[in-house]
Amino acid sequence: MREIPVDTIIAAVETLFIDANINLSRNVIDAIKEAIKKEESPAGKEVLRELIKNAETAKEERLPVCQDTGLAVTFIEIGQDVHVTGGDLSDAIAEGVRRAYRKGFLRKSCCHPFTRKNTGDNTPPIIHTKIVPGNTIKIIALPKGGGSENYGEVRMLTPAQGREGVKAFVLEMVKKGGPNPCPPVFVGVGIGGNLETSAQLSKEALMTPMGTRNRDPELAMLEIEMLDEINRTGIGPQGYGGSVTALDVHVEMLPCHIASLPVAVNIQCHAHRIKEVTL
Ligand code: SF4
Repeated sequence: MREIPVDTIIAAVETLFIDANINLSRNVIDAIKEAIKKEESPAGKEVLRELIKNAETAKEERLPVCQDTGLAVTFIEIGQDVHVTGGDLSDAIAEGVRRAYRKGFLRKSCCHPFTRKNTGDNTPPIIHTKIVPGNTIKIIALPKGGGSENYGEVRMLTPAQGREGVKAFVLEMVKKGGPNPCPPVFVGVGIGGNLETSAQLSKEALMTPMGTRNRDPELAMLEIEMLDEINRTGIGPQGYGGSVTALDVHVEMLPCHIASLPVAVNIQCHAHRIKEVTL
């Protein structure tokens, strides 16, 4: 049994959230650069160039890529041969988030749902855990802004609605969001499982590396078709019109109940901030 002290986890979470908010990943920047070549509208092209400039300035001046530094979403893969020592894993993740948002001067966006009173330190974080083989802990930090998260939804389709029903729902959600989730967006789609697993799958789908297609050829085709349809909506970069509304679409799927077809859509903005480390 390998031991990992909570202090190591706290430090890792702190670094990840500061880094995620300041340094947009290379593959996101490359996807936006690639989109400049594909975008047909001059206004759309200009917006994409501004997004690149914004990301570069943030990195140079160590400022957040966006003022909305998000709720602190974490995915933790815990090796079954790991023993966390010196404290509680959830507390350690929360402490890492607390330190990151304080030290990095990141906006605290977490509040009471009714009174809207800010919790003051961007905690509690959202923690998804998975037990996996091995003796390491993988931590993924995904600060998620409110503008894009607001256009996510879970819908229980009827089984008869099938594949076409899924496509129609995804397109409906992208059109409903229009310019509000700060396009060009990334779209995560979770199909199957039940109500809550479809939502989780949709967020996991957002973590798929850009440009890669689903290992199932049928789902890969579904991703390509949805990306094409979304990019024909004309919403364009930041809603100024154009041919690049989404940079990518990813699907995750699980078997579901014979009476159900749960589908979840999770939209991510161009500021797709995601960083990971394995301890
Ligand atoms: S949707 Fe994204 S880019 Fe737009 S304000 Fe929110 S975090 Fe920032």
